[in-house]
Amino acid sequence: MREQEIQPDFDAPTQGGAHDAAPTGGAHAQEPEAAPTGGRTIQEDLEHAMRGWGADRRAILGRLQSATAQEKAEVRGNAQLMGRLRRELGERNFQTALSLLGATQGGQQQGGQQQGGQQPQGRTRSGAVSGQSAQIIAQRAQWDQTIMTSRDGEQVRDAFARYWNVQLSDNAQNSNWSVSLLRSTHEALKALPDQDTRAGVWRRLNLIDGGGGSWAAGQGQFNLGADAEGRRAQYGNRRVDWLAAVVRHEIGHAVDTALGGVRAFKQNVGGWNTAGTLNDTRSIDTWANQMGNGWTGRGGSPSSQERAQIKEHIKNFFAAFRGNIGASGRPLETGTQADHPIRRYLNAGVPVIDVAKACAAAGPQFYADSNARRVVNGKIYSINPYYGRLQSCNAAVGQTILRNYQLFSEAEFFAEVYTVFYEGYDPQSGGQPGRHVPVPEWRNWLLQNVHNRGGAPDRATERGQTNPSVGIHAGQDGAPS
Ligand SMILES: [Zn+2]
Repeated sequence: MREQEIQPDFDAPTQGGAHDAAPTGGAHAQEPEAAPTGGRTIQEDLEHAMRGWGADRRAILGRLQSATAQEKAEVRGNAQLMGRLRRELGERNFQTALSLLGATQGGQQQGGQQQGGQQPQGRTRSGAVSGQSAQIIAQRAQWDQTIMTSRDGEQVRDAFARYWNVQLSDNAQNSNWSVSLLRSTHEALKALPDQDTRAGVWRRLNLIDGGGGSWAAGQGQFNLGADAEGRRAQYGNRRVDWLAAVVRHEIGHAVDTALGGVRAFKQNVGGWNTAGTLNDTRSIDTWANQMGNGWTGRGGSPSSQERAQIKEHIKNFFAAFRGNIGASGRPLETGTQADHPIRRYLNAGVPVIDVAKACAAAGPQFYADSNARRVVNGKIYSINPYYGRLQSCNAAVGQTILRNYQLFSEAEFFAEVYTVFYEGYDPQSGGQPGRHVPVPEWRNWLLQNVHNRGGAPDRATERGQTNPSVGIHAGQDGAPS
């Protein structure tokens, strides 16, 4: 996809205050998640996992796997609980539960296959999730436990890589993967649906300096800035955990990649359109046509010869910003002679020049500057100086700001809506995400096309598949390469 191809290494700039992130000043107080048995009975744990809108099969099966013999007997002896488990889990997963409880001969499947083994589909027609699936589920519960409780950095890194089936790497000069950073990242990832985090699209988590993140689609690589930890950022009227927001944002890009570009959202819902980049000055004419009559203002219209000079100047002017998010804006007429046509039409109300002027003054931070939101015929037009791209979107995108960064590009619009869509969502208890997305059209699109799309890993688990291309990570769950 074009967006990601030209956006390999930049995203979510955090230095310079564009996103309002600020260190909290205090230590990042990370509450360790309650261990499976944290003071509660197994019945309470299971009921907790079955609470709400949908049962968390993974939590239930993981808890059963870690149950003591006495706890297993307790569950087996509780007919009401067993009935509830059957209803909540469905027949196939219930068979797995039975085997974990030692209540059926289905247990003989356990250990029958090694990790990574190919498993013919249909083998589990009898109804049971394969022993391999159950084994993976149980292992993930153990890795989760390690990540959340171990103080051994190497152990936690290893468990993290296995749990998420990603490679961990470190390109940061000033920091290393710390246990607390991995734990916080892990918790943020667990607050997203499996179908998004574990679709196999995201394959590497790379530590970088700074406090932002980025997504490199070609490599399936999520770059995470070490300084994101412990900060908070403003989204609407809420102060949210910045690290968790970066995680949702970059996974949002991964979902964009997985779904092939979410064109329907960007173009139909957001009205995003591009006339191309300033590599070719003819793009400016295309853009002017999209505006209606973008070359004509109240104070006149440049001749074709003047337009050629103006276009050449705009191209060269914005070239200096390309790929440089830290640059400062400056007047569009900078460096031109007194008789240059750009000066003649600077205040003539010519839409092309007005938009260019506003974005030139704002520079690469144009998205955060309300003066750079020029509306022409119901759409916001902008030049993204970072990409040198001539773009536009529906005025509505600028009227409901989740975070200013949604105006940076169509890809960021999707990623930011996704970020807010899953804010405060808890897959463990189910329920509807999206309560912080105030625009019904945005929220409903994500509900229908992202949240309820019936994505892979969960379904694959249900079917006992471990090696579909869209399944539990191509059967490699336990063995990241
Ligand atoms: Zn982004």
